[in-house]
Amino acid sequence: MRAALKVLSGDVATRHGADAAAQISELEGALETARTAVKAARTANARLREALEILPQGIVFLDGEGRYVLWNEQYSRIYHRSADLFKVGVRLADTLRIGVERGDYPSASGREEEWIADRLKQMMAPAGRQEQWLADGRCILIDERRTADGGVVGLRVDITELKEREASFRLLFEANPVPMYVVSQAGKQILSANASAREHYGYSAEELIGRPVQCLHAVEGHAHVDELYSPAPGSLRDRYWSHLKRDGTKIEVAIFSQAIVHERVPAVLVAAVDITERRRAEAQVAYLADHDALTGIANRARHLDHAAELIASIARDGGIGASLCIGLDNFKAVNETMGQAAGDLLLQAVARRISKTLRQNSKAARLGGDEFGIIMAGANDIEDVSALAKRLIEVIGRPYMINGQPVVTGCSIGIAVAPGDASEADQLMKNASLALSQVKQRGKGSYRYFEADMDARAQARRKLEQDLRLAVEMGTLDVHYQPLVSLANGHTVAAEALVRWTHPERGPISPAEFIPIAEEAGLIARLGDAVLRRACRDAMAWPEHMRVAVNISPVQFRGGDICAMVRDALATSGLAPERLELEITESLFLDRSSAVLETLDALRRLGTRIAMDDFGTGYSSLGYLCSFPFDKIKIDRSFVSGICGNVEKQAVVRAIVGLGDTLGKTITAEGIETDAELSCLRHIGCEQGQGFLFSKARPQEEMLAFLNKQKRKRVA
Ligand code: C2E
Ligand code: MG
Ligand code: MG
Repeated sequence: MRAALKVLSGDVATRHGADAAAQISELEGALETARTAVKAARTANARLREALEILPQGIVFLDGEGRYVLWNEQYSRIYHRSADLFKVGVRLADTLRIGVERGDYPSASGREEEWIADRLKQMMAPAGRQEQWLADGRCILIDERRTADGGVVGLRVDITELKEREASFRLLFEANPVPMYVVSQAGKQILSANASAREHYGYSAEELIGRPVQCLHAVEGHAHVDELYSPAPGSLRDRYWSHLKRDGTKIEVAIFSQAIVHERVPAVLVAAVDITERRRAEAQVAYLADHDALTGIANRARHLDHAAELIASIARDGGIGASLCIGLDNFKAVNETMGQAAGDLLLQAVARRISKTLRQNSKAARLGGDEFGIIMAGANDIEDVSALAKRLIEVIGRPYMINGQPVVTGCSIGIAVAPGDASEADQLMKNASLALSQVKQRGKGSYRYFEADMDARAQARRKLEQDLRLAVEMGTLDVHYQPLVSLANGHTVAAEALVRWTHPERGPISPAEFIPIAEEAGLIARLGDAVLRRACRDAMAWPEHMRVAVNISPVQFRGGDICAMVRDALATSGLAPERLELEITESLFLDRSSAVLETLDALRRLGTRIAMDDFGTGYSSLGYLCSFPFDKIKIDRSFVSGICGNVEKQAVVRAIVGLGDTLGKTITAEGIETDAELSCLRHIGCEQGQGFLFSKARPQEEMLAFLNKQKRKRVA
């Protein structure tokens, strides 16, 4: 073309002159400029297209008549069902109509013309963004603007995912079982509240929405509302809040919040977890964790804390303090004879008396069972501690009225002093408890201070208890028999069964030592049963006139059914009941319960005889001699040994013998060791005797030999 123009201009110049040639040259320049412009426009267009294709949004340009001018690939993809209709010059209104007919726009269904008119109106006079749902479930955000040339440029964004997320958030909010609400950051107004919140607080949506969030808070929280419902509530996040329901009920809530934008408004999303019940339960658990449920005073765990506080305060400020461990002396008897409910009442009454007796700086606790503990702070000296112990023994020992019946229970107290006896709380408690067990072993109803060797003694005792348990279980205990002799003619009229234990390391151990252990360790019932059966069986081999005496511990009366045990032992052995003599001690009557008398009665009805052992050593009261008709009284060895030169002992024994005569009871003297004692007792008129003078306790075979020898002597 250019070459042609050049040729033409040369040709024209020769034929028409220079003017015409200049015009042609000008034309040539203009043509060149136009060519360059077209090229630039093409390049720009290509760039624009490239730019449009890079956009993640769909974009469409329409002219002033609403005809397609330009659109990108993403636009075609968004409207892929109608993409075949898009052509330059085609009117959007037409493609829209075809789309509506095909059912591409579900919201148009039923109002097609109206919908199309609305859409076109919005397009030509855009006012904000529109959402458009497509038949395949996608949601498209439409943003349109008018262009300077009167056309329209429209952006399309696929917001389906966003919509889905929004929907699940809404569901999560609305259907959440936790009360949730949204508060505006600026005005602190409730913008929304889920069903759970409405129900929990008792408001309808209308009543709640738009109200200041203060309406949910108790007055004391109002001052914090601004900070609490801000995007950064700081440490307020960790606090619990008192909230008010519509009916005025106060609840406690924990608040979890998160800044959000709610319908374009900066807001805070709040979950209010009602912890009223949890707090109540926590308070209850905390209370139970350090209080005794029955008496309401502190429990063992709290007592340990008290002890630790005492040790710490002494370490800091000096002075002395003490741990007192109180054991009730015959609580078990009350529990067993009057029932557990009465026992509980007694424990409550004891706890009340202890609490009343204490000054402010001493603290009481129930350590378990019938044991109480006191941590005494602020004592001036050891005398103060002793004074408290004495006072407690006196106060606890006063009679109680339980279910209309008078009940007496003494107590024993073990004491450990800080800082001398322990530098740790648990050591202090343990030492007081050790001291208590020593009091219990050596006569109840008093108090004792901890001594350094008590621990070793307690350990030795524990070991002995284990060994005894094994011996009882293995049946390795033995029974020996000691004759009871008629002082008139020297004949053996009975023999007392005495249990024997040969310890594998220590050798023979006295029953005086291990019977109390068996009683405390709960072994006495099995031990007593074994001795009784063995004695009945062995007695069957003795001459028929001879009785067998078996010792019964008071503890056996509390536990199982003694009558059943005796009945069974007699039946199994075939021994006649009147040949069995049961020896009981005065301590049995300490309980003063009618149950004891009933059991003794029942035993007598079986036909067995009842003997009062060790008479004069216990809590001697002649009262019980009248309340129960014994068959025999055994005068304790302490009145017998050295009786010859002791007028007082003679007087006591004479009185008992006189009593026996009057009441018709057999009197036996225990522990006769010398001929002098024998003749003295004979002289006083004592009927029977027992002691080393006649024989020590011997095994069954020796006993049989002894009896045979006596028989031969008599025959001779
Ligand atoms: P106890 O029932 O008063 O038995 C008499 C104790 O005095 C026996 O001691 C016996 O060996 C001892 N004895 C007898 N004559 C003399 C004497 O002339 N001089 C001295 N010094 N002692 C004499 P043992 O066998 O050591 O028993 C002590 C206590 O242990 C018994 O006193 C009894 O209360 C208890 N005991 C023994 N066996 C049993 C048993 O099977 N069951 C129960 N519950 N207690 C038993
Ligand atoms: Mg005895
Ligand atoms: Mg005795």
